[in-house]
Amino acid sequence: DLQLSSRVQAIKPSPTLAVTNKAAELRAAGQDIIGLGAGEPDFDTPDHIKNAAIEAINAGQTKYTAVDGTPALKQAIIAKYKRDNGLDYEPNQILVSSGGKQSFFNLALAVLNPGDEVVIPAPYWVSYPDMVLVAEGKPVVIETSAETRFKITPEQLDNALNERTRLFVINSPSNPSGMAYTLDELKALAAVLMKYPQVMIATDDMYEPILWTGQPFCNILNAEPALYDRTFVLNGVSKAYSMTGWRIGYAAGPAKIIGAMKKIQSQSTSNPSSVSQAAAQAALDGPQECVGEMVKAFRERHDYLVAALNELPGVECLQGDGTFYVFPSFQGAIDATDGISTDVELAEKLLQEAGVALVPGSAFGAPGHMRLSFATGLDVLKEAVARLKKVLA
Ligand code: PLP
Repeated sequence: DLQLSSRVQAIKPSPTLAVTNKAAELRAAGQDIIGLGAGEPDFDTPDHIKNAAIEAINAGQTKYTAVDGTPALKQAIIAKYKRDNGLDYEPNQILVSSGGKQSFFNLALAVLNPGDEVVIPAPYWVSYPDMVLVAEGKPVVIETSAETRFKITPEQLDNALNERTRLFVINSPSNPSGMAYTLDELKALAAVLMKYPQVMIATDDMYEPILWTGQPFCNILNAEPALYDRTFVLNGVSKAYSMTGWRIGYAAGPAKIIGAMKKIQSQSTSNPSSVSQAAAQAALDGPQECVGEMVKAFRERHDYLVAALNELPGVECLQGDGTFYVFPSFQGAIDATDGISTDVELAEKLLQEAGVALVPGSAFGAPGHMRLSFATGLDVLKEAVARLKKVLA
C-alpha cells in the first residue's frame, strides 16, 4: 500500500479550482454552463506587458535568474511600494515568487513550527488554512458576518491572539467578501497587535487597485508604521494586471525572514519564470491606465450584480468595496428549497439545474453564502441571474 504523509492528508484540493474544473468538465460534456467560480479577471493581459515578454524572449532572457528575482524587477517592486504605499524597502527585503500563492507558502514554511497558531479572519481566501496546515501550523479562524461587513473587530482579534500565535493574516480588499478595512479600522486592529510583539503580520494586498471606496488604499503598515519590523506585505501582478497565468507574486518584509523564504524557494522552485519577470517589470513600471479601465468595468458589473441578486428570493447581498467578487447570503434560499440544507448542496443544484457555477461559502469558512465572481461580461452576468431566478423561484 502506498503511504501518504500526514501533511498531505491534512489538506484538501483548492475548492475554487475544483468548481472551475467541474464547470469545464460539464461544458466539455456539451452542457451550457456559466462559470462564476473563477478567481481571475476576464481581460487579456495588456499589450505593452505582453510585448515586454516577447522582447525578453528575443533578447535571450530565457535562463535562470537570481532566485529572489531579477535586480530590475526588484527595483520596480521597491519603486511600487514607495509610490503606491509610502513604504521603503531594500533589495534584501524583497522576494519574487511564482505567484502570490507561493509568497504565502514560503512565509508559512519559514516562520511556523508545529502547532504554532495563525489567526485568519473568515471568510478567508481558501488557501490560507491549508497552506498553514502543510506547514504544520494551526489555523485559528475568526468568524464574521454581514453585520460587520465581514470584518473583524479589535475585540475579536484580542480574543484570538495569545502566546502561541505566530502570524496574523489580513486580506483587504478581501477575497471573497469584497470588503476593505478603513484606515481607522486598521488603526484599531494595529493597537491590539502592538500588545503582542511576538506576532508577525501578513497583509495580503493582492486586490489593492480594485477598490471603489473613494478612499486611497491603505494597509496595516499605513495605519501603524511601528509594525514594520514584523509585517510582510504580499502583493502580485495576477489580479491587478490580469496576469494570472504568468505566475508572479512578491513579498516585502524583514530581511531575516525574507532571506529564509528565499532559502526555501531556492530548494524548491528556484527563480520564477524569467520571461514572466520581464512582463511583471513592464506592468509595474509602465502606464497604469489599463488598471483603471479594468476597475471601471468591475465596478459597473458589481453595481448591476448586487442590485440583481437582491431581487432574488432568499438572497441578500451587501455592496462591496472592491475586488471582483460578491459574497451574498443564500441562507433564505437554502431554507426555502426542498431537500437542500447546506450551501454546498445548493451550489450543486444550481450547477446542475441552472447551469451556473458558483463557490459555496463554506469553502471560505462562511457557510450559508455563495461567492460569485464578476470577472465576466455584463451580458453573461444577466443570463446567470435569469437562470438563478428560474431555479430559486
Ligand atoms: N491572495 C489572494 C487573496 C488571492 O485571492 C489570490 C488568488 O486567488 C492570491 C493571493 C494568489 O494569487 P496568485 O498565486 O495567482 O498570484
